[in-house]
Formats: sequence, structure tokens, C-alpha cells
Amino acid sequence: MSKQLLFIPGPVTVTEPVLAAMGKPMIDHRGPEFKVLLESIARKLKPVFGTSGDVVVLGSSGTGGLEAAMTNMFGPGEKVLCCPVGVFGDRFAEIARTWGVDVEVLPTAWGHGVDAQALKARLDADAKREIKGVILTHNETSTGVQNVMGPLADAIRAHGALVLVDSVSGLAASEFTMDAWGFDVVVAASQKALGVPPGLAMVAVSPRAWEKMERAGGPRYYFDLRKAREFAAIGQTPATPPVSQCFAMDVALDRYAASGPENVWARHQLYTNGIIAAAQTLGLELFAQPGVRSVTVTALDVPAGIDGDAIRKTMRVERGFVLGGGQGRLAGKIIRIGTMGDISQTDVLGMLGALEMELLGAGLKIHVGSGVQAALRVFLEASQINAA
Ligand SMILES: *Cc1c(COP(=O)(O)O)cnc(C)c1O
Repeated sequence: MSKQLLFIPGPVTVTEPVLAAMGKPMIDHRGPEFKVLLESIARKLKPVFGTSGDVVVLGSSGTGGLEAAMTNMFGPGEKVLCCPVGVFGDRFAEIARTWGVDVEVLPTAWGHGVDAQALKARLDADAKREIKGVILTHNETSTGVQNVMGPLADAIRAHGALVLVDSVSGLAASEFTMDAWGFDVVVAASQKALGVPPGLAMVAVSPRAWEKMERAGGPRYYFDLRKAREFAAIGQTPATPPVSQCFAMDVALDRYAASGPENVWARHQLYTNGIIAAAQTLGLELFAQPGVRSVTVTALDVPAGIDGDAIRKTMRVERGFVLGGGQGRLAGKIIRIGTMGDISQTDVLGMLGALEMELLGAGLKIHVGSGVQAALRVFLEASQINAA
């Protein structure tokens, strides 16, 4: 099958106008056109992060953005409290350890979000203020968990630690209010909810974080955010940027604003609600707990006796729907369905129908069509079409 729809949590299916922008002729990255482009992107990203502070654009995947955040903010011997809820949170902690940062982990069972009370209790116990930073994941792509950020922000505020947030797969899919929450460095990437091909990391930095970076941090060169800021002031990046991705990002940000962010958030929530309704009707368990379910990726437990990887393979090869598998210790145990990018309600319904066919073919006892119907009802209700 040549036509493929990506239901993975990044990279995502890219809209035609954004793809077309990638085909523009190259420009001088130290010339006046690029200056206009970079400033446009940085300006339009601010409301997406919910900040009036700086947003720095890096030529990198999301992980580079995480590395930039950690190495610019913290150095060897400084203590941070990492709050991982899955593979990507573990990765953020691993980056810290690699740079000699002293990592303490606040443990959370996978499938759950960070417990705000446990976080507050740990910080309250830190009377000497040894913890310099709190490290959070907004949306944990490996488990389909989206932390509820407001209560976590409230739990940290009185302590005063700097807050680093991985929102790579969260930003732009739901409301994000960096300044109101008091976050200091927030990282996103192009290939997730903003629907741009991979290659750009976006890092939002608070005034307090810039100050900290001047005083300390680990060794850094390519990802030196101070240097990125210096160059941004003259409309450039320190090294050659992925110019085509910048063209695409500018168009994607215009489309995001034109759609109305609330509508974009509602679309992600609606697709997720449709998939959850289908899963529940089919008797498939959701890996993430109620209340912390992600709007960008839904993780389904693979039913006993079913080979999840085989299902994903036929979905991709024979049906043209690419689904995600489990990562780390969840390999083979879950199927992850991404809802970011250029997909429609009918794409979601088609994917669910194909999934039902594969589950039935694999021997699972389901009332075929019931999952699609459940999702259809969710969509009809949202369109205020009477389904009765
Ligand atoms: C995708 C993702 C990343 C970064 O991955 P890259 O492959 O480096 O872009 C980091 N954190 C989360 C939560 C992600 O979903």
C-alpha cells in the first residue's frame, strides 16, 4: 500500500501548504529574508507557549532541545528533582546524569501522572533549598499520559526551584500557559502537534532562566542558548539552520492562528475522545488513567493472546494506517495511536474500522463495527447532529 496515514505520535502527516513551503528555493541564512522569517517564527511561537519571553529556535530534534535546556541551566553537582512518568521523562533525567547533574527521581507508576501532593511534600522537605530545578514532562508520549500542569505548578511555586518542561508532544494540542504557571524552560519540536516535518526544536526561556544561564550551566557549544539568543537579536542562528523547516514552521503557525487555537485544541480532544469511546466499547483497556489521558496519543493495552506488533504490521502494510508500538518496557504491550497532524474525523473512523478488522482477524471477540459506531457518535454529537 503506497498511501500511508501516520497515526504515530510524531512525525505526523503534514498538510499540503506546509509541505509546499518546504519546496521554496534556499535563501541566505545570514540575509534579510531569513531575518524576517526567524523573527516571524519566534514572535508567533510566544502565544503558543503562553509566554511573553523569548523563544529560541534550534536546528535539532526535540531531544536536542531537552539537552539544551538541561545543559544551559544546570551543571555538575547541582541537584534537580526529575519527575518522569515514562520513557521521555527518563531520557530527560539521563541527559542530566550525563552532564554530571545530581538527579533525584520522584517516582510515579507508569500510566499515572505526577502526584502534585507528593511533589509538594518533597519540595517542602527541602528546607535548605538544595533542589535547584524540577524537571517535568507535560505530555508523556510513551504512556499516553498528559500531566495536569496547573496543580504541579502550584506545588512548586513556594519552593522557588527553576522548572524545566518537556512539552515536545504536548505544545499546541491543548492550552499551555508557561508564564502563568511560572515555568522557566519549555521545550517543543516541529514534528508533533504543530505538524511540521522534523528538524526544529523550539525552546522558550523565562527571564529568570536567562539569568541563571549567565551564572552557571554545564559545558555546551552547539546548544549554547546564550549564543542562540545573541544571534537571534540580529535575525540569525549561530550555525546554519534547517531553512526549509523554518519556511514550513512559519506557514504552520499562520494556519494554527487562523484556525483558532481553541479549535485546534478541541480537535485533538475530539479525536482522542472518539478513540477512547471506541476502545471502551470494544473492551480494550486504556493504559493511561482517567484524568491524565493525553489528547495527542492514546495508549491501548494489547489484549491477552493478541500479537500487537503483528496487528500494527498489517495495519501499516495492508491498510495504510501507521500506529505506534510500546517503547522501553512497554514494547509489545501497548499500541499507541497519535492524533496529531493532518488527519480528519473520517481518517480516524477508517483507522478504527481497520483496527477492528485486524483485531477480529486475530481472534479477538468483538462486536465488529461497535467501536467505529461509538466514535461516530462522539463526532456526531460534537457536530450537533442528532444520532438518535
Ligand atoms: C518526540 C518526543 C521527544 C523528542 O524526540 P525527538 O525524536 O528527539 O524529536 C521528547 N519528548 C517527548 C515527550 C516526545 O514525545
